[in-house]
Amino acid sequence: MKTIEIREFHTPSSGIFFRAGRRLLSERTPFQKIEVYETDSYGRVLFLDGLVQTTEKDEFFYHEMLVHPAMMAHPRPENVLIIGGGDGGALREVLRYPVKSAVLVEIDGRVIEVCRRWFPGLAKSFEDPRAEITVEDGNRYIRETGRRFDVIAVDSSDPVGPSAILHQRSFFAALKRCLRPGGLIVAQAGSPLFHLDPLRKKRRFLKQLFKRALYYYGPAPTYPGGLWGYAFLSDGLDPLQTRRRRPPKKLKYYNIDVHRAAFAAPEFLKER
Ligand code: SAM
Repeated sequence: MKTIEIREFHTPSSGIFFRAGRRLLSERTPFQKIEVYETDSYGRVLFLDGLVQTTEKDEFFYHEMLVHPAMMAHPRPENVLIIGGGDGGALREVLRYPVKSAVLVEIDGRVIEVCRRWFPGLAKSFEDPRAEITVEDGNRYIRETGRRFDVIAVDSSDPVGPSAILHQRSFFAALKRCLRPGGLIVAQAGSPLFHLDPLRKKRRFLKQLFKRALYYYGPAPTYPGGLWGYAFLSDGLDPLQTRRRRPPKKLKYYNIDVHRAAFAAPEFLKER
C-alpha cells in the first residue's frame, strides 16, 4: 500500500512528519480544513488547517494537563464549561469527576461528528448524560449565557481562524464573568519554546484581569517544541492547595507530584 507523508512545520525549518497508510478524511467546513490520517507511529491523527490537534498515541498528555490541575484545585467543581474541545478529550477528563454538568461549546459541528466516527476513545464522552454539547462560537456563547461555572477550560486551537478571538483580552474579560464565586479558568497557552512573545503578552493582560494568573507546563510530544504551556486563572484559589488528595483512577500522566512540578517555572522561562 502506498504510504503518505504528512508534515507540519513548527518553524520555517523544522517540524514534525508522519508516515500514514491511509487518509481517512479530508474536507473543508465553513471554519477550517479537517483531515484525519491513520499514521504508523501515532495512530489516528486529527489535523485542523494542517496543524496537529490530537493523536491517539499522545493525546492524554495534553487533555490530562489541561483539565486535572483545575479540577483538583477547585474544592467542589459541579458545573464545568469547555470552550472548543470538539475532539471530546478534555470532556472525557472532566467527566471522571462527579460533576453535575459539563457544557462543551464547539464552533464546528463537523469536528464533533468526525471525532465521533474516527476517535471513539475521545468522543465517547459526548454520550455521557451530564454532557451538554452546543455548536456555537464560544466567544458569542459566553456573552449570551446566563449560566455560571466553577471551572472553565479553554481548549482552543492555535490563535488562527475562528480560534484567534479565544486568545484575546476581551474574551478572557467576558469569560471571567461566567465564573461562579471561587471559580477558575484554565486555557491552553501555546509553546514556551516557539510562542514566548505571545505567551508573555497574554500573561500581561491576564495578570490585570486575575489576582492569580499563573502558567504551568507539561509535555506534548506532537505540538511545537514538545513542551506545552497552560494558563491557570483565578482570584483566589491556589493551584498548589489541592484539597483532594487523590485524582481519578486510570490516568496516564497526571498525578499530584506531576501537578506540583508543572507549576515550577523552568529556568529558561524564569528570567523571561
Ligand atoms: N487540543 C488542541 C490543541 O491544543 O491544538 C485543540 C483541540 S480542539 C480540536 C480545538 C477546537 O476549537 C476545534 O475543534 C475548533 O473548531 C474549536 N474552535 C475554534 N475556534 C472556536 C470558537 N471561536 N468557539 C468554539 N470553538 C472553537
